[in-house]
Amino acid sequence: MLPETTTIHTENYRLRIPDESDIDFVFSATRYAGFNDGMQWEAPESREELFSPLEKSREAWAKGEAYSFTIESAGPTWTRLGRISIRKTEEKEVWNIGFWTHPEFQGKGIMTEAVGAILGFGFTKLKAVKISSSYATWNKASEKVLIHNGFKFVKHIEKGLKKQNGWVSENELALTASQWEHSKPGITSCDFCDAIKENNNIVFESDEVVALLDIDPISIGHIIICPKAHFTDFHELPDHLIGKIMSLAKEYIRVLSQLFNLRGYSMMANGGEFNDLKHVHIHVFPRNSKEEFQWVFSDKVPEDAIRFDVIKNFLKGHMPKK
Ligand SMILES: [Zn+2]
Repeated sequence: MLPETTTIHTENYRLRIPDESDIDFVFSATRYAGFNDGMQWEAPESREELFSPLEKSREAWAKGEAYSFTIESAGPTWTRLGRISIRKTEEKEVWNIGFWTHPEFQGKGIMTEAVGAILGFGFTKLKAVKISSSYATWNKASEKVLIHNGFKFVKHIEKGLKKQNGWVSENELALTASQWEHSKPGITSCDFCDAIKENNNIVFESDEVVALLDIDPISIGHIIICPKAHFTDFHELPDHLIGKIMSLAKEYIRVLSQLFNLRGYSMMANGGEFNDLKHVHIHVFPRNSKEEFQWVFSDKVPEDAIRFDVIKNFLKGHMPKK
């Protein structure tokens, strides 16, 4: 059992078990218009209504089912800022987090830091293998907090939260222990960095990029182009290197068209788990038939894939404006 004195410290805040002294603070948050709209509760009518949930959260803490924390700013006086909790789910070793920031303190990155701390607590102290969180679809602020902490879209739930005046749809996001572990910076060594230096199949080389014949070609002239410096995946590349890689691809295709009888070509970059080299590279391969390379369609497309309304709304505000 975790002692009730368990306190989590972040760079700027402290998370501690809620007590009676928080009641006024919680009540004042529920007075703000819209505050309760995405919550599992309706606005309380009086302070007294808040004692029973506090008692329940204490019981849950004692049973090891859920841990709630009041978030406070560090400093000469502790200022209450919000609440965060992590609770067991029906799924083994999967925990769920919920949080709110007092309307007076929203938009300051407080919750992003608090969620980061609760993830560390969940994955190390509670030994969670996965942590999930759901938020009302319209709540872009909560969405951003989760995305900044590495959470990924799992599913859309049309009937998410039951409120007095109907259902509120939610998105569920989650983060696995391994994703969380890998998101922390670490030093990696790369076999491919070494291999580039003494490769006999190099067809072009400049200071920064290299093109070599793929050792496992799928067509004549199939090459891979990559930077000499180590980057794991395409999305980590600086723009100037992308420019160099793509212009080399363009030149290569121009040369191929003069030397070989091409009907066309394809280019491809695999990332993440599907990047077998773990050193960023793009494939360029000449093509003469549809059969030599095919896109295979699977029947395991997730249901939400055709919910374009959900996907568009989820993506909104996340792409940088250029
Ligand atoms: Zn490398």
